[in-house]
Amino acid sequence: MPIPHAAKQLLRNQCFVNGHWVAADSGETLTVRDPATQIPIIDVPNLGTNDVARAIEAANAAQQSWQATSSQERSSLLRTWYQLIMDHQKSLAAIMTSEQGKPFAESMGEIAYAASYIDWYAEEAKRQYGETIPGPNPETRIVVTREPVGVCAAITPWNFPAAMITRKVAPALAAGCTMLVKPASETPLTALALAVLANQAGFPAGVFNVLTGQAKTIGAVLTESPIVRKLSFTGSTPIGAKLMAQSAPTIKRVSLELGGNAPFIVFDDADIPAAVQGLIASKFRNAGQTCVCANRVYVQRPVYDEFVAALKEAVAALTVGNGFDEGVSIGPLINQAAVEKVQQHVEDALSLGADLILGGKPHALGGHWFQPTILGKVSQQALCAREETFGPVAPLFVFDTEEEAIALANHTEFGLAAYFYATDINRVHRVAGALETGMVGINTGMISNAAAPFGGVKQSGIGREGSHHGLAEYTELKYMCFGF
Ligand code: ADP
Repeated sequence: MPIPHAAKQLLRNQCFVNGHWVAADSGETLTVRDPATQIPIIDVPNLGTNDVARAIEAANAAQQSWQATSSQERSSLLRTWYQLIMDHQKSLAAIMTSEQGKPFAESMGEIAYAASYIDWYAEEAKRQYGETIPGPNPETRIVVTREPVGVCAAITPWNFPAAMITRKVAPALAAGCTMLVKPASETPLTALALAVLANQAGFPAGVFNVLTGQAKTIGAVLTESPIVRKLSFTGSTPIGAKLMAQSAPTIKRVSLELGGNAPFIVFDDADIPAAVQGLIASKFRNAGQTCVCANRVYVQRPVYDEFVAALKEAVAALTVGNGFDEGVSIGPLINQAAVEKVQQHVEDALSLGADLILGGKPHALGGHWFQPTILGKVSQQALCAREETFGPVAPLFVFDTEEEAIALANHTEFGLAAYFYATDINRVHRVAGALETGMVGINTGMISNAAAPFGGVKQSGIGREGSHHGLAEYTELKYMCFGF
């Protein structure tokens, strides 16, 4: 599906650095393809080490004057950017579906969701409150202010090409930091389109920069630079660990949103139709390619058969196809490797005795589509019990007691999100408290919004995005001791 005419004005084949559209010094490029058709959309620069170093210098040059602007001014620029994004929602969504594959309705939703972080931080920019603390004696007053961290860098994944950027950029700019973003090479076009609109909104040159190219090369320059004071990364745990190590010599601040392996527990007192709807929302959004997707579904034995029947009906109603086609709810996976991983997880579970309730194969459409799949009575030894599947597969595990469900849910090195459905108020409090994750969805499958602190514990990451906590990540406390 070609990108509609109106969206073409937001398409760029250059990087946005220091207020200018630039190519790589070497002239090298990378091709961005539509994952549904494999057709090339456009080529973007493959920046080299020197290109990135120049961009860091530009962000550094802009830092002092940017942090000296009033919070009202930063708020107003963010608000204008937000409005421009919403005015171009359809065009941005079309670019997103072209490069990422998700259904157009989901792209529309993501653009609104991404913009909501800019709206939120336009407000929070004005509320970077400090504090005064009584000193230890009458001649001392302690005053604490929040200062911007300085030049920041972000490396973002392909599953949310807009939201993973705005969740980092909006609080950084609100706090008075300049920002260099390296979007995923699969989905740089949404990021560049956001830069077109940031430029129109009037942010000064160097404040927001988008760099495309090889992640390894750009990541190395960003992490090695002593100028870059903070790195925010969303992606896998192994790459997060690597970037954290690379950031250690310069003692960079890091925020890491890493892998999840979310449990979804259905207790015998759950509202089953609601639990099915919650699982559909949590599991099958973006074809199962989100870090908070339910990955392991634990169902208590007395309600297992009822839950399976209702889930089968709901999943069978999902429509697989090109994200631009009307009524499609499951688009293609991002690439062939993703299809192979999903297939491996399914075959492994089946070889260990799982029931095939629905799907189980690459879709007849070919390409990167996979059938929405339900596996029943899966073994605890299966790969999908331990690793993120990142695809449209719901593996169901049976359990008997609350203690068993909690132990199974926590039996992972990850701790991002967990979900459970129950109605007994005492159980709700017990289980919510016992789950070792940064976020818990209780009788809901949708937990992400700009007002809430998103983030994980254990090997799922460090730091939070969204809410006033997300702004604090881009500030340093400065304590001033006034003697008088
Ligand atoms: P995913 O499987 O979701 O792509 P990764 O953690 O491999 O997860 O990648 C997330 C993002 O991190 C990628 O889009 C890429 O831009 C970036 N990335 C991958 N490898 C590196 C690296 N060695 N250094 C810096 N960034 C990287």
